[in-house]
Amino acid sequence: MSQSMQGEELKGKVAVITGGGSGIGKATAELFAAQGAKVIIADVNADAGNEVAKSLGEAAHFVPADVSKAGDVEQLVDTAVERFGGLNIMFNNAGISGAQYPRFLDDDLADFDKVVGINLFGVMKGTHSAAKVMRENGGGVILNNASIAGILPGQALMSYRVTKAAVIHFTKCSAIDLAEYNIRVCGMAPGHIRTPLTAFTLPGMSEEQMVRIRDAMAPVWDSNQPLKRHGSPNDVAKSALFLCSDSAAQITGVILPIDGGITAGD
Ligand code: NAD
Repeated sequence: MSQSMQGEELKGKVAVITGGGSGIGKATAELFAAQGAKVIIADVNADAGNEVAKSLGEAAHFVPADVSKAGDVEQLVDTAVERFGGLNIMFNNAGISGAQYPRFLDDDLADFDKVVGINLFGVMKGTHSAAKVMRENGGGVILNNASIAGILPGQALMSYRVTKAAVIHFTKCSAIDLAEYNIRVCGMAPGHIRTPLTAFTLPGMSEEQMVRIRDAMAPVWDSNQPLKRHGSPNDVAKSALFLCSDSAAQITGVILPIDGGITAGD
């Protein structure tokens, strides 16, 4: 993290970041810690999550958790309270793309359960568990990572799109419901960000092949957006920092696109 990103925007805050071992979650954990937060990093990938936590020293702690399992999410929130004395920020970030067949009729419906379990139930359960603690402690911020795929209809990635659209709706509904407890609920809709998630996921394809296709497609994605620059995990992390900080105290129920303008015309 560059020196210029050191600061005190989140001094005294405790944040849980799901999917904190990679991509957007990792960049956000680093930025939040650099801004004074104590960070609980949750991930199914213990090696990755541990590595990020270790790199942040005393400011961070790793908890193995699968967000599609209610017990894991409760444990996660309890650990934040036990370890760091509270919970001010819940970043429901963990997500998967599911297999990326170009057409709906090729999709495996068993894969749907998995995508819904992580992308939608994980966000709802994370909100439910975190809000109970925040209600007792006078408030907090819940941030959900949706996607432009939840705004723009399209042919492929059907289960991913519908879970992200549902996360957007859930964010607005829970913002209305939880406002009474001084809990803000916001969402982000990133565009194309080069992380492991955007490497194509198809059974039988090697990781190397998937990354090669993603890297070949990336310039096309970049040129399709008005700003014509590549969005990075740090771009999303900086928006997360704003939405979770007191600078956004009057903001709730919004979905912030971080997409170089892709959705501006729709
Ligand atoms: P990533 O693959 O780099 O990171 C996702 C992390 O989540 C991984 O560390 C993974 O192990 C973890 N994870 C997966 N399933 C989990 C589970 N059940 N419980 C806990 N952790 C789990 O992906 P990313 O691009 O950083 O994605 C983060 C979020 O951003 C996702 O919700 C994704 O849908 C969203 N998003 C990403 C993009 C993009 O272009 N990369 C665009 C829009 C939205």
